[in-house]
Amino acid sequence: MSQLSPLLKQATPVEVDYGEGVYLYDHSGRRHLDFTAGIGVTSTGHCHPKVVAAAQEQVGKLIHGQYTTVMHDPLRSLAERLGDVLPPGLDSVFFANSGSEAVEAALRLARQATGRPNIIVFQGGFHGRTVGAASLTTSGTRFRAGYAPLMDGGHVAPFPFAYRYGWDEATATRFALQELDYLFATMSPGEETAAIFVEPVLGEGGYVPANREFLAGLRERADKHGILLVADEVQTGFGRTGKFWGMEHFDVQPDVVITAKGLASGFPLSGIAASTELMSKAWPGSQGGTYGGNAVACAAALATLDVIQEEGLVNNAATQGARLLEGSRQIAEKFPQIGDVRGLGLMVGSEFVTADGRADPDTAKAAQQAAAERGLLLLMCGAWMNTVRMIPALVVSGAQVDDALGIWSESVAAVTGDAARS
Ligand code: PMP
Repeated sequence: MSQLSPLLKQATPVEVDYGEGVYLYDHSGRRHLDFTAGIGVTSTGHCHPKVVAAAQEQVGKLIHGQYTTVMHDPLRSLAERLGDVLPPGLDSVFFANSGSEAVEAALRLARQATGRPNIIVFQGGFHGRTVGAASLTTSGTRFRAGYAPLMDGGHVAPFPFAYRYGWDEATATRFALQELDYLFATMSPGEETAAIFVEPVLGEGGYVPANREFLAGLRERADKHGILLVADEVQTGFGRTGKFWGMEHFDVQPDVVITAKGLASGFPLSGIAASTELMSKAWPGSQGGTYGGNAVACAAALATLDVIQEEGLVNNAATQGARLLEGSRQIAEKFPQIGDVRGLGLMVGSEFVTADGRADPDTAKAAQQAAAERGLLLLMCGAWMNTVRMIPALVVSGAQVDDALGIWSESVAAVTGDAARS
């Protein structure tokens, strides 16, 4: 008998039997309030009946049809339907299975289309674990360690992470853009830079929203040098932040959008979107793989789009996200161990720090575990894994947000003892 690899280490002892909406149920029948959503994937809730029905129907018709040989309805329909939600002008879509693969696709497209080698990314960014994507990832040494030599050509500029620098947003933004210009002058001249990859909200890097001035600054520089602006919306897309795409908050138009996670409610599916003109500069055959655009996953994605629209989930994410952020801030006021609370829509992070302002992953982890014991599942993020993040399904209700906040407050109190301020 073989056993689970040690790589499959879990943060909680929960063994799930089934899921329904924002809840997971273990084999003893215990209910867990899931504020992880499979890392932001099951946005329509676990096993939404419409998604289940669409997938079941497709399984009985066609499970897999490889797109280099044949085309099938779910793939064609999804490509067409995404036109309703994609930023204007990004009218060509290509599919893969995971976020990392879609990042690789965008990377190849950028290099092939421009003929330039360099890619600029931001400190604390996460783009995946395949070699190319890991080479663009700086949200923690664990994503690169023991894996070198990685891909050449990635250059890192600062992200306007105001709390980390101890500055206000405007100062952090000015610094980040100045350093970017310095990078162009020293390491990665514009004419050698293919693309700038940016997350509208740093995800794995600690739930740090970008801002309009910063992203507009990227757009301006991209235009000046003929560089592609690539929005990695793997975590922020599909309504997660309270707009369909995270970039919409900032009124900045990317040249390429990368999507995955919430796209198909849990079926493995990802994609990139660009203008047809740009996409036609990618070299056919060098992109994609056997399973990209799987028929069942595409059917689930079509149902996901229906559910998001019919149930007004983007607005719900904005409403409940604001409630979650505000409630988390009120809790943080009681506990000096939480140095900062930030986020956008249903991505909310609470960063734990020591009395002298250093990252405090131990207390963060203890609070996460205390919450799990009380039936609330949470995730960690940040370079030091000292930020506890909440990323529930977009179907979450106000009452469920309040339940989560109640458990969260109790959990932080339990691990910080009498250190609470009130
Ligand atoms: N980009 C971003 C912004 C992500 O958050 C993630 C996953 N956390 C990825 C890329 C990689 O996606 P996957 O794990 O599906 O490869």
